[in-house]
Parts: sequence; structure tokens; C-alpha cells
Amino acid sequence: MDFSAYRGILIVVEQRAGTAKNVSWQLLGEAQRLAQKLDAPLMALVIGHEVEPLAREAIERGADRVYLCDAKELKDYRTRPYSRVCLHVIEQAKPEIVLMGATYTGRDLAGAIATHLPTGLTADCTQLDVDENRLLLASRPAFSEKMLATILCKQYKPQMATARAGVFMALPRDPSRSGEIVRISPQMNPDEIATEVLDFLREMGRVNLEDAEVIVAGGRGLGGPAPFALLKDLADALGGVVGASRVAVEAGWIDHDHQVGQTGTTVRPKLYIAVGISGAVQHLVGMQHSDVIVAINKDPDAPIFRVANFGIVGDLFEIVPALTKTVIARRG
Ligand code: FAD
Repeated sequence: MDFSAYRGILIVVEQRAGTAKNVSWQLLGEAQRLAQKLDAPLMALVIGHEVEPLAREAIERGADRVYLCDAKELKDYRTRPYSRVCLHVIEQAKPEIVLMGATYTGRDLAGAIATHLPTGLTADCTQLDVDENRLLLASRPAFSEKMLATILCKQYKPQMATARAGVFMALPRDPSRSGEIVRISPQMNPDEIATEVLDFLREMGRVNLEDAEVIVAGGRGLGGPAPFALLKDLADALGGVVGASRVAVEAGWIDHDHQVGQTGTTVRPKLYIAVGISGAVQHLVGMQHSDVIVAINKDPDAPIFRVANFGIVGDLFEIVPALTKTVIARRG
């Protein structure tokens, strides 16, 4: 097949209730680097209801052109109507690369689109690049995360990948950027859509590390599940969430959802407080790009202090409650 008409990169922006997932902006940031290498346009696709501000934001964050499909029936994500819009835009825009976040929604949508096109899809990437033949080098951990596999899609276009949240850096908003907004109509009539969203149950306590601005994470130093309550108090005071090292998760002290690191979630919060965590490389890869890192550890030689902006050497059982008290007092 002749794929010479395919040019540019398309990022599918994921949103819920009009708020975009950070991973979408992180992908736009990384894709701008790739688009410059390819000398090709960077496009975004925004689907939802009353989501025009996100189209504008996509331009401010690097997109040259944004496809906007805004309709009442697209308020909530549903696979068929969303994938129809994506397929229509892919047919119209002919991007050589399509990227989206490796979230629950992104994985579902990307799979549906790739199957339909058909093309290859590399899921859960942690590195992206392009080579001199304009091939996407989509890298992801493989074999129980012991190796990094780079996967190429040589036969089909567009080349597709989903990428993990937190591994790439979003560009700051630049209100002076200009770009084109192309309006797309929904590709299905409401009465053709077989599924209906009745309600959203809160996600049963599942922690959202990916979008958290503050994370207070605990490790083996906590010595058991109960001290996680101390971390929760500090996280609540700071408007954040609780994270954990793998040791704490494997000991059964806290759910895997909370795990930060190579086999957990990669995070990029504004503030990361590591409590009783030594700083093993598998943990560091998941949090070292946080804006500010505070480490609390009784061992002054703990490797975590090498990546920390602020280090507190001492017993977490004294320091964490004192910090919480101070934060609450300062807040008034
Ligand atoms: P430790 O290394 O035992 O550190 C505990 C720290 O607590 C020590 O530094 C100690 O000084 C401090 N401490 C003890 N008591 C106190 C106290 N009272 N006050 C203050 N400080 C105290 N790990 C992850 O975290 N995430 C991953 O995704 C991950 N993936 C992995 C994947 C593979 C393939 C492998 C092989 C390993 C992976 N690991 C991962 C495990 C990793 O190698 C480490 O074993 C783990 O991160 C260590 O957890 P920790 O820091 O909680 O425990």
C-alpha cells in the first residue's frame, strides 16, 4: 500500500468533565520534539461536550492544528462513538503517528482503532523516538520489566502507541501560540449508540497518582500498614495522595495502585515526599522527575538523598506528625 500521504503526529486528548488528563499534555510535549525531527505538523484531537477550551489549550501546549468534535452525546467516553470520530479524523488528517495515554480509556480506544484500521499498536510505552525512515521507535518495558523492547510498525500507517503517564514533560502553556481548530461532526447518531452511561460510581478508592500534585510515599521504613495513616494525614493536609514503594506493596501494607516506580506508576507531581524509602533505582525511575523531592530517612547515606531537593535525617515517626501539625497550623 502507498502510505506517502501520511504525515504528522496526532495526539488524542483524553478528558473527563472538561478536564484533560495530564498524560495528554505530556504526550503533546514529547510529540513536539518528534514532529520537529520529522518536520511534520503536530495535531490534536479533542472529543467531548463543551470541550472547546481544551482545543485552545492544546494549541497553547504545542499543537498546530486541533480537530474538535463537541457534541452532547460525546459527553462521556464510549468506545464506538469515540472510535468512529478518531477513525474519521485519521482518514481525513492522515497522520503517520497516533499517540494517546496508556490510561484505561486510552488502552480501550487505541485497541479499537488499531484493530479497525488495521495497524500495529505498541501499548504502555516509556520512550518514543523516530528514525531516519520516519519509523516510530516505540519502547516499552518487557519480560517482567527486565528489558526495554523497541517496537516498530513497518508495514502499516498510522503507527500507533499508548504511553505511560508521567514519563514525558508537558510544555508550559503559551497563550501567544496560534493554530487552527477544525470542527468535526459526531460520526454516529445518538440513536445508533447501543450503550448508555447511567452514572459514574466513584472509583472505589482507587488512588490517582498520575494526576496528583502532591504525593507522600512510604516504604519499608514504616514497618507495617498502620503508619500509612500518618502519611495519609500529611497527604490530606497538603491536598495530596499516598504512594508507596514496592516493598510496602508486596508486604501487603497497601494496594498496588499506590506503587511508584518501574513496575508501578511513573509520577511527576509538584511535591514528592519519600518517607522511609531508601531510593532504589527501580523506585527512582518512577519519581525522580518530580518538581520538588523531600526525603525523610534515618540513614544519612540513603541513596534517596542524592535526588532529593530537601533531606530530613531522622525518625519518620517523629518527623511526619510534626510536619502535618505545621502544615495544618500554617493553613490556619
Ligand atoms: P528499603 O530499601 O528497605 O528502604 C527502607 C528505608 O527506610 C531505609 O533507607 C531505612 O533507612 C529507612 N528507615 C527505616 N526505618 C526508618 C524510620 N523509622 N525513619 C526513617 N527512615 C527509616 N521498587 C519500587 O519502589 N517500585 C517499583 O516499581 C519497583 N520495581 C521493581 C522491579 C524489579 C524488576 C525489581 C528487581 C525491583 C523493583 N523494586 C521496585 C524494588 C526495589 O529494588 C527496592 O527493593 C525497593 O524500592 C525498596 O523499597 P524501600 O525503599 O521501601 O525499602
